[in-house]
Amino acid sequence: MSQPLPQSPPASASASGRSVAVIGAGFAGLSAAWDLAADGWSVTVYDGAAHAGGLAGGFRDASWEWPLEHYYHHLFQTDRAIIGLAEEIGFADRLQTLRPVSASFYRGKAYPLDGVVPILTFPGMPFIDRVRMGAVGAYLKLTPDWRSLEDVTAAAWARRWMGKRAYAAVWEPLLLGKFGPEHYEHVPMSWLWARLHARSFKLIYVAGGFQAYADALQRAVEGRGAVVRLSTPVRGIRRTDIGLAVAAGDGEATFDAVVATTAPHVLARLAPDLPADYAGRLADLEHLGAVVFVLALKQQLMTDGTYWLNLDKREMPFLACVEHTNLIDAAHYGGDHLVYMGDYLPPDHPAFTMSHDDLLAQWLPALQRINPAFRPDWVRTSWLSRAAYAQPVVPCGFSAHVPPLATPVPGLYLASMSQVYPWDRGTNFAVDIGRRVAAAVATDAVSMR
Ligand SMILES: Cc1cc2nc3c(=O)[nH]c(=O)nc-3n(C[C@H](O)[C@H](O)[C@H](O)COP(=O)(O)OP(=O)(O)OC[C@H]3O[C@@H](n4cnc5c(N)ncnc54)[C@H](O)[C@@H]3O)c2cc1C
Repeated sequence: MSQPLPQSPPASASASGRSVAVIGAGFAGLSAAWDLAADGWSVTVYDGAAHAGGLAGGFRDASWEWPLEHYYHHLFQTDRAIIGLAEEIGFADRLQTLRPVSASFYRGKAYPLDGVVPILTFPGMPFIDRVRMGAVGAYLKLTPDWRSLEDVTAAAWARRWMGKRAYAAVWEPLLLGKFGPEHYEHVPMSWLWARLHARSFKLIYVAGGFQAYADALQRAVEGRGAVVRLSTPVRGIRRTDIGLAVAAGDGEATFDAVVATTAPHVLARLAPDLPADYAGRLADLEHLGAVVFVLALKQQLMTDGTYWLNLDKREMPFLACVEHTNLIDAAHYGGDHLVYMGDYLPPDHPAFTMSHDDLLAQWLPALQRINPAFRPDWVRTSWLSRAAYAQPVVPCGFSAHVPPLATPVPGLYLASMSQVYPWDRGTNFAVDIGRRVAAAVATDAVSMR
């Protein structure tokens, strides 16, 4: 039989006299902690990982000046929440605005599709379809009305309004690549609206990498008195007479409120007091995982300077080829040319259990189609990262089913990537939902007094 966990009294009282545990030191958890600490809460942030940053965290090779994200990351100029937070913590001067080339690989060649002229000169469809696609794209960029788009699939809407040829050449490969054969025809048009509406052609990258931002945010949160406990996975949350007991690491502490920023199905497992039907609904929210290689190459791969290349999964073994050092100078990485090969796949896909070498052998030859001069001996070394919860998959009409931030257990909140709808997940929306859940926790605490 397992030993009872050591008990500790409720976490220390604060200006508000209240304590909160935040599970996850990603951008959502740290943003929630930032606001709750300002509101006078005694905040303890737990993360099972050794570093803050979650999915946006990075790693550093010995020869590099800057860490690099395990999964390719940049911001858009429209990402107001995360830019605003950088201003608040004195980090905004580290955000660099850049104008890299993003392209789609079509019949063996990369075509930029990131501006009016590139769209009008794309050879994948007749001119009239290009004009039509550009005009409909402009409409989606301008209209704020996503609600009228959430009950129709992106496949049906794009076929009807952009035309069958534009759908076949541009949107079908994107949807199929991102969501796979099982989901791509069911994704609501509101997802495609969000993708076009809240994006800019200019991108923003963080000097020092997103890890530097996460570390700065962690320091800022600690500067407000919060405690950040890394390498401390939470094993369970249960109701007691005096609050919510959080079992983490080898101890247990009791809090007035708990904010989970984990995957919804993880919270369903951690909190057995959640009603079974609610926990079942969390567990049923669909998502894909991410499988991403970082290659350190001795030579530039995309010699035309392309940063982002969308691939067609009907022809290529993975979805995106991202040459990070076509965005950021290779000098920050000891001269390595850094290339991501990435894909979104169901969590039970063999790519999650295959060995690094076997998967690399399956994916690497595709680089020769992108640059026929590529040779495997260009690869100095490579890293493989896999995350089971990386991309929520939402059905039509999802706005009526987004789980609210407050769960049915009083004091227990969930702020996850699956709840940022109609937006697609991203660090900007993690900051936004983190701040919204902090406001909800504070408001509920006041109304319960
Ligand atoms: C391939 C890929 C590319 C992406 N590209 C971009 C991009 O270009 N731009 C962008 O803005 N966003 C991008 N994103 C999305 C972005 O990374 C996420 O939306 C964002 O980081 C989510 O933050 P979060 O805090 O909600 O969740 P997470 O970052 O997942 O943080 C959750 C944290 O909870 C911790 N945790 C989980 N379970 C427990 C437990 N039991 N106990 C303690 N801790 C626990 C985890 O360790 C993790 O640190 C990308 C994601 C992927 C996968």
